[in-house]
Amino acid sequence: MKIIAIGRNYAEHAKELNNPVPGVPVIFMKPDTALLKENKPFYHPDFSEDIHHEIEIVLKISKEGKNISEKFAANYFDEIALGGDFTARDIQSRHKEKGLPWELAKAFDNSAPVSAFLPKTQFADLKNLNFRLDVNGQTRQQGNTSFMLFSFEYIIAFVSKYITLKKGDLIFTGTPQGVSKVTIGDRLEGYIEDNKMLDFLVK
Ligand code: MG
Repeated sequence: MKIIAIGRNYAEHAKELNNPVPGVPVIFMKPDTALLKENKPFYHPDFSEDIHHEIEIVLKISKEGKNISEKFAANYFDEIALGGDFTARDIQSRHKEKGLPWELAKAFDNSAPVSAFLPKTQFADLKNLNFRLDVNGQTRQQGNTSFMLFSFEYIIAFVSKYITLKKGDLIFTGTPQGVSKVTIGDRLEGYIEDNKMLDFLVK
């Protein structure tokens, strides 16, 4: 399986990092070795001094597709989860300055914590879905999918023009504003609406 992630899909987050709001989706990938499941702790790597949390809604692709039209894209995912797109912001900033790819900042081991998946039918309106991240009991990020620049369906259509989507692939759909540094000892708790999805420690 592969993990496809969307950068700058919430305007307020693009602005907080002084990035332009994109005209087309910004796409990057993480390998399967980035997955961190079952609320296992995240062991802070020593190659970065500034790892940021980015809380995101994650789609699980339910069948193979290429050149999927936006109209039918909703048929290609049945379940959603909450995920984290851990980012070594110091490494990313250095690479951005030079126009270099982001893999070392985004694709490292355990950089993609993912909750259990829930059927999308459990939620009344995927276009108006609240999600949030609390760190040590304080809300740090709060998002609503109505603020996405590119919808779930648009993302699936766009990505599948270039990259065949396969059953089990995950799409991280971007983070709202409020990203900040995690520190050893932090407890991260994530919610979709009132469902507690993530609860794990930084060690
Ligand atoms: Mg992200």
